[in-house]
This record gives sequence, structure tokens and C-alpha cells, in this order.
Amino acid sequence: MQLQITDLNKVYANGTHALKSLSLTINKGMFGLLGPNGAGKSTLMRTIATLQQPTSGSITFGDVDVLTDPEGLKRQLGYLPQEFSLYPRIDSETLLDHFAQLKGITNKAERKEIVGYLLRKTNLWDVRKKNLGTYSGGMKQRFGIAQALVGNPKLVIVDEPTAGLDPAERTRFHNLLSEIGNETVVILSTHIVEDVTNLCTDMAIICAGEVLAKGAPQAAIDQLAGQVFRKAVDRSEVEGYKREHRLISTQLREGRMNIYIQSETDPGAGFIPVEPTLEEVYFYHVSSRTNIDTL
Ligand code: ADP
Repeated sequence: MQLQITDLNKVYANGTHALKSLSLTINKGMFGLLGPNGAGKSTLMRTIATLQQPTSGSITFGDVDVLTDPEGLKRQLGYLPQEFSLYPRIDSETLLDHFAQLKGITNKAERKEIVGYLLRKTNLWDVRKKNLGTYSGGMKQRFGIAQALVGNPKLVIVDEPTAGLDPAERTRFHNLLSEIGNETVVILSTHIVEDVTNLCTDMAIICAGEVLAKGAPQAAIDQLAGQVFRKAVDRSEVEGYKREHRLISTQLREGRMNIYIQSETDPGAGFIPVEPTLEEVYFYHVSSRTNIDTL
């Protein structure tokens, strides 16, 4: 199965051009869609999930034309939106059973088996009789994944799943995501670079509705190898360095400003070479489009 997005455009009624001739090919496995707030990630996710229409372009999943046959896609889709509300006075087992009915699983015994399997997989079995209103953020997210996996979807979309989770909850959530079958296309939309580093075999960086980079994270990192340098400077000096160098990012550390620059040759002047990570790759691309002070 492959998701093919071709020349996708979205212009909202207020004139915002949120997706600009965006094309991506997404294969089985975990795909990370990285971009700052406002990049167009949710617009793209909602469009793939058939919740909104693009202005132009095409999307196919296997042999399903997503835009003309939304039902064909929905049958294969599991979607965890950025924000979702749960019925606080219902327990997770009951609600999951309800979702399974909506997915067309009419046999009660079969439903019970699926619901039990998903509750165990998401580590919610022990709290299955508790009302969802009593769940922590991490438990709610795991419930979100459980409901997205009902019906064994071939395409799973998770939009900003770890925002608001504490580190332990995030790790648990990552482990859960990485267990989703190898036969599934999983798209993880996020502005957290570390999530993509930890989980994804393929990725794209988007900004202002355009794809700035795509490919395997390590390949993108290799392209920048030997070109990233760091220097601790005074806050007041940053503007000057910005004019003279290709500044990637700034990080405050122990009261001093660490600036990261990209340069094909050693800039000298106290700059130290740095092994790039996906973080530098991300900032390198995104800083070319936005004011890095806002990142
Ligand atoms: P992201 O998910 O990467 O933060 P979004 O897809 O939410 O990005 O937004 C992309 C751009 O489209 C932003 O400039 C946002 O303000 C704009 N946008 C999103 N939804 C709407 C809408 N319903 N109407 C008008 N503009 C919108």
C-alpha cells in the first residue's frame, strides 16, 4: 500500500494558501511529517482523512482515489485528531465497543475480542471500567490510539499526538506506535523533532505549505554532516552573526547564547564543529523560510 499525494493545493476562504502544490509518496512504516505551527500539517492530515476538500490536486491510497471515493478510504483509515473530546461519563470498554459497532463489527463475541485486544495493547485493560473523565492525558491519548486501531486500518494518521504528555507518557506512547503493524502506513504529524528521530524511517519537513526536505532522517542528517558549527556568544552579538553567517538556530545555555550556523568551510573565529542531528536539519530548512526567533 502506498499513499500518493500529487500537486495538492488548499486555499482557505480567507485567502490563506495553506498547501502549495504539495506532492509526497508515503510507503508502509512510520512516516514523520515535521513542520512548525502553521506549516499546513493539520490541513494535510484532515484532507487525507477526507474531512475537508483540497482546492486542487489528487490523493490515492493503493487503488482508491481518496477525493472521489472518501468512503473507500474511510474503511481503511484510523485517525487520531489533534484534539478530540471523549464522553467523560463512559468507561473505555463501553466506548470502544461502540466504536467497533460503528465500524460495522456486528458480531458481539468478535467485538469483545477486538476490544479486549486493543485495551491490552494500549495498556488500558486494568482501567477499562473507569470513566474516561478520570483518565490522565497519556491514558486519553492511548485510548485515542485504541479507537483509531478499531477495524485494523491500513492507514493510520496521528496528528500532534505527544503534545501535553509528560516524558514517561510520551515514551509509552512511542512504544505503542512503533508496534503498529509493518503492513500499515502510519503518518505522524508533529513539530517535535525528537519524535521523528525516535520513530520514523521516512519523513518530510514542510513549512508554509511546501515540502522543504524529504527522505530517510539519516540521509538528511548525512547531507548536513561537516557543515554545522556552534559558538557561545553574547546575546547582543547575535544580530551581527546573523548578518555574516547562515544562522540555523540559537539556544540559550547557562545564560549564554549558543548559535548554530551552516557553513561548507570551517568558519574559524571560535566556532566548534557539531555532529548534526535531525534537529539541525529541521532548523536548517525551516530557518530559510521563517524568522528563527519565532521557532
Ligand atoms: P499546522 O497543523 O502545521 O499548525 P494548519 O494546517 O493548522 O497548520 O494551518 C496552516 C495555515 O492555514 C495556517 O496559516 C492557518 O492559520 C491556516 N488555516 C488553518 N485552518 C484554517 C481555516 N479553517 N480557515 C482559514 N485558515 C486556516
